[in-house]
Amino acid sequence: ATAAPLLALEGVSAGYGQARVIHDLSLSVMPGQVVGILGTNGAGKTTLAHVISRALPVTAGRIRFAGDDITALPPHAAAARGIAHCMEGRRIFASLSVEENLLVSARNVATAQCKERLERIYALFPVLAERRHAAGTSISGGQQQALAIGRALMAKPRLVIFDEISLGLAPVMMDRLYEALAELKREGLTMLVVEQDVERALDVADVAHIINKGRITLSGSAAVVRADERLRHLYFGIE
Ligand code: ATP
Repeated sequence: ATAAPLLALEGVSAGYGQARVIHDLSLSVMPGQVVGILGTNGAGKTTLAHVISRALPVTAGRIRFAGDDITALPPHAAAARGIAHCMEGRRIFASLSVEENLLVSARNVATAQCKERLERIYALFPVLAERRHAAGTSISGGQQQALAIGRALMAKPRLVIFDEISLGLAPVMMDRLYEALAELKREGLTMLVVEQDVERALDVADVAHIINKGRITLSGSAAVVRADERLRHLYFGIE
């Protein structure tokens, strides 16, 4: 039997006011799959991420998650169903410690479970354990990004959307974050990796979609997308 997709977008359109940014877009994500969403600046990747986490309403189409229609759900309800959104810009609370920032997304979770989740995140990012009592914004940019990932994981999500997690970071920190994503993939976490950094995304992704002007222009396995000439055309303008 073929497994059902965890997430499915069917003919989704969305935008801001009169400006349509996503056009009639369909894609699906299977359980345990890592799907890359690639595209240049302004392609609509972040808008798509907001559509999936339900932060932005759709003007057409349908979104299904674990078999349910979630098109009309508000973001907190999507989060409660297991969709976590780890965004660029981080939004770490300055007045809370690293550990308190992690605990924010596990407010209604029993203490024992909380501890277990914390330990798992500290194993993934030992630097967060070392800095657990530091103020959330006193740690480096890369560490804050690790914290944002950890916070998304504390909610024990079924799907995590990573939006430009490597943006503006030093290569060594990007390596570390992508190693963590590879580890999460081995553990079977379903992930959507929104990235401008094509190589990094294709290294971890099973499947990738190239988005251009709000439409999917190329889809396939990471290997197929990597080898496709249209990828180079899009990024390097080679005709
Ligand atoms: P980037 O990597 O630069 O974030 P992106 O692929 O994520 O690019 P989006 O941020 O989704 O692209 O932007 C797609 C289009 O939507 C752009 O033309 C942008 O100007 C427009 N846009 C994004 N956010 C808004 C907003 N809040 N209001 C109006 N237009 C917006």
